[in-house]
Amino acid sequence: MKRVGVLALQGAFSEHIQHLEKCVADNGYEVKIVTVRTPEELSQCDALVLPGGESTSMSLIAQRTGMFPHLRKFVHDPSKAVWGTCAGLIYISQELANERELVQPLELLKVRVRRNAFGRQAQSFVQNCNFSEFIPGCHDFPAVFIRAPVIEHIFDADAVKPLFTLESGLIVAASQGDNILATSFHPELAENDSRFHDWFLRQFVLK
Ligand code: GLN
Repeated sequence: MKRVGVLALQGAFSEHIQHLEKCVADNGYEVKIVTVRTPEELSQCDALVLPGGESTSMSLIAQRTGMFPHLRKFVHDPSKAVWGTCAGLIYISQELANERELVQPLELLKVRVRRNAFGRQAQSFVQNCNFSEFIPGCHDFPAVFIRAPVIEHIFDADAVKPLFTLESGLIVAASQGDNILATSFHPELAENDSRFHDWFLRQFVLK
């Protein structure tokens, strides 16, 4: 039985849990979904999902609660699967392009990320994206972008694979190796559509 943790310090963690639990129930996967707030909870996991929310708060809470070194050690373990969405993507990145003093990132994903790259909350949008190149049959996924970051630069092109690029050329989904996934948008906020979560479980956790 694999244990998938969802980091529950801040942000849209309950939405991730709902999607993941639906995938497990629908498909009978040998997977247990758990919330993670403490080093003990983290230590029992095989995978960790870092939700969207606010990366500055996530970073501050992780520092204040003493979770930061545990999270850092966990995500850098190549036997663990890791998925960061939006603020979670920012938090797992190697470097921030802007407001560096506000977030102490986990320095896992070998990219430089720009926070709030599309502007303010009012510039949030939903775009139907064709992810069928990496998720079989997924031609029309409603990707929710809320004060979303973009991957501005890839430091290690051998390690990091861009998965999806908007028409403007901005990279909004990427993987690193066979265990790390990052998305600028929020699959956890796609109502009644758990295809992205199902793909994460099958491709990264149950592989
Ligand atoms: N802009 C937010 C940040 O910097 C991320 C927004 C989100 O997760 N929706 O953390």
